[in-house]
Amino acid sequence: MEMEGVRDKLRRPLQDLRISVTDRCNFRCQYCMPADIFGPDFAFLPKAEILSFEEIERLAIVFSKLGVRKLRITGGEPLLRKHIASLISRLTKIEGIDDIGLTTNGVLLAKEADNLKKAGLKRVNVSLDALNDDIFKKINGRGAGSKVVLNGIEAAIRAGLGVKVNMVVQKEVNETEIISMAEHFKNMGVTLRFIEFMDVGNTNGWNFQKVVTKKEIFDRLAGHFELEPVDPDYFGEVAKRYRYKHSNTEVGFITSVSESFCSSCTRARISADGKFYTCLFASKGHDLRAILRTHQDEAPLIDKIRSVWEGRTDRYSDERTEESARLKSKIEMSYIGG
Ligand code: SAM
Ligand code: SF4
Ligand code: SF4
Repeated sequence: MEMEGVRDKLRRPLQDLRISVTDRCNFRCQYCMPADIFGPDFAFLPKAEILSFEEIERLAIVFSKLGVRKLRITGGEPLLRKHIASLISRLTKIEGIDDIGLTTNGVLLAKEADNLKKAGLKRVNVSLDALNDDIFKKINGRGAGSKVVLNGIEAAIRAGLGVKVNMVVQKEVNETEIISMAEHFKNMGVTLRFIEFMDVGNTNGWNFQKVVTKKEIFDRLAGHFELEPVDPDYFGEVAKRYRYKHSNTEVGFITSVSESFCSSCTRARISADGKFYTCLFASKGHDLRAILRTHQDEAPLIDKIRSVWEGRTDRYSDERTEESARLKSKIEMSYIGG
């Protein structure tokens, strides 16, 4: 057991931190925040429980000392957090952090893109599950057409941000959009990543039949485009990448269900209220806010994070069964971020 722990540590360094800045969202995507559960009576986190920018910065400094090089700001919808660009600006100044990204539904991106770029943000991942308005409206639960997101994407490109688009594919929901999305973003020179529908949280009605696997998506794409594989850029890279032949544009797959990647998972997560999670499918987080609010020095935080990470045995996706998906109590995706 002890040797296994040591091997685990060696294989899975702590490299990558996702920070959720809010659990609120202006969408109600049916695979993430189903509107019947996240309705007007849902108890979102009160403001006092949410980490301040100063607290997030202190945490990021500590994580950078423990090896984190990449930060991603997420939520809920991170652009709902007021003055988010000023948080980015603080985080870019941290020694050791060499990459900061943000994942957004794109609704407020046209408004925020320039500020984010000026603050030092390098990249945004924008979620868009369909171009077809009828399909997209049903998915986002707020009746928003795809135009508002496409405008956000264009504004981000104009502002000089790197842009990738994420599309969660679900059986009989948006499979018909695979080729039109690929075509559209290939023509724009933007990387599109297909994400397998996951059993995050306890409310999205997931089962294996609703998953469209990488293989199925790839086979459809191969009927329309010539694709060649691209080697991973670094240890722990999550997307399986391909390039459209005779172009520089890539397309990727996040295969969390059909080809899980727990053995190279280097990613930690912090919820908006300062809980530390070592897995997207965890039931329980480790409270860092209480430490942040009672100690000004870094040592107790460092000790806590190190001991939690070193004790980590997570491999939920490697072991997933329909029963575990149904029975295990898991944190919600909107709470912990993608
Ligand atoms: N609101 C932002 C957005 O939608 O991009 C950031 C948070 S959202 C939880 C992060 C990512 O998780 C999005 O790309 C979203 O599509 C993805 N996601 C949410 N629920 C999912 C699920 N059940 N399976 C796969 N991906 C999911
Ligand atoms: Fe909101 Fe993002 Fe979840 Fe959709 S996927 S409900 S946009 S947090
Ligand atoms: Fe990492 Fe957990 Fe996902 Fe496995 S299931 S890749 S351990 S977050």
